Amino acid sequence: AEEADVEIRDDPVSTADGVPVEVAGNVGTEADLAPAADRGADGIGLFRTEFLFLDRESPPDEDEQYETYVEALEAFPEGRVVVRTLDVGGDKPIDYLDLPEEENPFLGERGIRRSLGPDADLFETQLRALLRAAGSERGGDLAVMLPLVSTVEEVTAARERLELFADDLEREGVEYAVPEFGVMVETPSAAFMADALTDEVDFFSIGTNDLAQYVMAAERGNERVAELGDYHQPAVLRAIRATVEATEGTDVWVGMCGEMAGDPDLTELLLGLGLDELSMSAVTVPQVKRAVTETNTEDARALAERALSARTKNEVRRVLTENTES
Ligand code: PEP
Ligand code: MG
Repeated sequence: AEEADVEIRDDPVSTADGVPVEVAGNVGTEADLAPAADRGADGIGLFRTEFLFLDRESPPDEDEQYETYVEALEAFPEGRVVVRTLDVGGDKPIDYLDLPEEENPFLGERGIRRSLGPDADLFETQLRALLRAAGSERGGDLAVMLPLVSTVEEVTAARERLELFADDLEREGVEYAVPEFGVMVETPSAAFMADALTDEVDFFSIGTNDLAQYVMAAERGNERVAELGDYHQPAVLRAIRATVEATEGTDVWVGMCGEMAGDPDLTELLLGLGLDELSMSAVTVPQVKRAVTETNTEDARALAERALSARTKNEVRRVLTENTES
């Protein structure tokens, strides 16, 4: 019922004390674009491209992908569109890719690991399509993001490929531009190495679905360990804070695109932790926008300090409840 009462705001919002915060939508398919725009998303903070590869016999070719990315840019005439490169493996199988049987798929060959390994050809097609989309009319707002990064070398290798394919397009006389470049922070190693990673990227986006799973060693979606894998765990908050801290004094911006970003009860805390952008499924965009406008940065920072010093998940929850009641 509360949801229906929240006003939809198409304009970008700022905190009560005037700090602009980007509130973006997570999308999987072209069909998600209009609902995200209708609910007031400023742009797309996470385009999960694996959906382009599902339910078909073979992967989409370069032209098909190019058209999809351009369509996404056109759906948000003023907003940024962050396209994540293919994130398969783990819980995301694709039949024609012939993924290996692994005992622990979440700890196996997934995300960027496959793109730099057995799926190198798909990675090339996707990066070429993205370079071309970045060279299109609305391309200045395109950003490319790598999933499941755990080392600096993965990022430099991916960046080298992007530059190599840009050179190919140049030689071929095809129009292109090099898009903004970022990584998801969704492994403990990425959070620990965030300071080194800032030299390689324009932005981070924290994926709390995987980050909570890996920080807590509690499989996502497994009911038996759901309490452990909860994003209210203080260890998860500390991993977020460490990531943001690494960007301070740099030009790297930090967003969040895991489920946690769409929880309006946590917006003040997340802004207090220092996030610049929040991306979520379309449905919660209006509530989060409202929560942003009600946040005062100084109070949010104090709230984050209290939450970061909590020792248990229940203490974190108590800090949040006391804050709403006061
Ligand atoms: C995440 O891990 O938080 C995330 C946003 O990516 P996905 O849910 O697609 O793994
Ligand atoms: Mg993830």
